[in-house]
Amino acid sequence: MIYADNAATTRISDRAFEMMMPFLREQYGNASSKYSLGAKSKRAMEQSRKQVASAIGADPSEITFTSGGSEANSWVFRCVADIYRNQPMHIITSAIEHQSVLNACHALEQGGVKVSFLPVDHAGRVSVEDIEAAINSNTRLVSIMLANNEIGTVQPIEEIGRFLKGKSILFHTDAVQAVGHIPIDVKSLNVDFLSASAHKFNGAKGTGILYKQLELEFSPLIFGGQQEHGLRAGTENVAGIVAAGYAIEESISLMADEAKRLRKMVEETVDGIKEKITSVRVNGDSIYRLPGMVNLGFEGVSGEALMHLLDLKRVCVSTSSACTSGKEEPSHVLLALGLSEQQAKSAIRISYGRYNTSDEVDKVISAVYDAYSKILGTR
Ligand SMILES: *Cc1c(COP(=O)(O)O)cnc(C)c1O
Repeated sequence: MIYADNAATTRISDRAFEMMMPFLREQYGNASSKYSLGAKSKRAMEQSRKQVASAIGADPSEITFTSGGSEANSWVFRCVADIYRNQPMHIITSAIEHQSVLNACHALEQGGVKVSFLPVDHAGRVSVEDIEAAINSNTRLVSIMLANNEIGTVQPIEEIGRFLKGKSILFHTDAVQAVGHIPIDVKSLNVDFLSASAHKFNGAKGTGILYKQLELEFSPLIFGGQQEHGLRAGTENVAGIVAAGYAIEESISLMADEAKRLRKMVEETVDGIKEKITSVRVNGDSIYRLPGMVNLGFEGVSGEALMHLLDLKRVCVSTSSACTSGKEEPSHVLLALGLSEQQAKSAIRISYGRYNTSDEVDKVISAVYDAYSKILGTR
């Protein structure tokens, strides 16, 4: 099997797996228990908090573990709405955010919050000018993703952060696709909140990360005990948290080499497919893009059909994000780029990661070509 869908999730790294295992069996203490078995869990968790903090330039006290990226995103919106309840509130986000952000916005709209969903250019980039134009006196939060999960386009977050500095508008970035893949420093990005998820950087599923700038008052999303600075109650997912720490550390140490390697694999894949299928188009930005990801459009051919035929050839790719597949609608991200419904439905996403090898490139190219020819041939 060739797994080329690392934007959906990744295989856990061997080291992260090894490091988390003891916390499921021998060292299964509750981190809140005061005897040494509990203290060991607590210590391991705090070690992970340090690893995560150091990976993104934060202080450990600014890191809260959640159940995933979706929870981290949801929490930010719930909390900001709490802070400004009973006041007119306006939020700025983009049209190409992950569902967890878009749906959090839609929920707040039900309660009277105004939301601007900014358009993007043909490459999927948000502009600072559009943010500037959208701001009004009620704007409390700007939330723009760092890198898109369908096309890989990387947003000018640092530039937006510079612009928002000193404006008393909170700034959040969904960095789930970016953390562990491209360098990130929360201080130079000037963000107040940042979301990440361990299973997108070779950690385990079910562990998310919310960075929150220290001075901010924050309300709990889950009520109960004093876990996670009293902000997120419930017995912690110690094993997953331990895995997240080692996975992020490892991703950072391999990042530069991996980025180079994955970029080359993507380039060769695109060139190889273009050679056989000249009409193929690359959706997204050619420069500001995540190293391992590319979104390709095959004019006149269904992306869904391609994906299924590739699956029969044991090659895993996706049509759009995993969260929207299963629904018939074309991708909201591709429509926002200005593609037609037909074009949006003709796309597949290939995303390489740590466990892909360069000899898989040729196999992916021929599998895509065979699948494409088969669809054309059956007409
Ligand atoms: C995967 C993803 C999420 C959701 O993260 P989970 O941990 O799966 O809840 C949020 N945003 C983006 C950009 C993602 O790619």
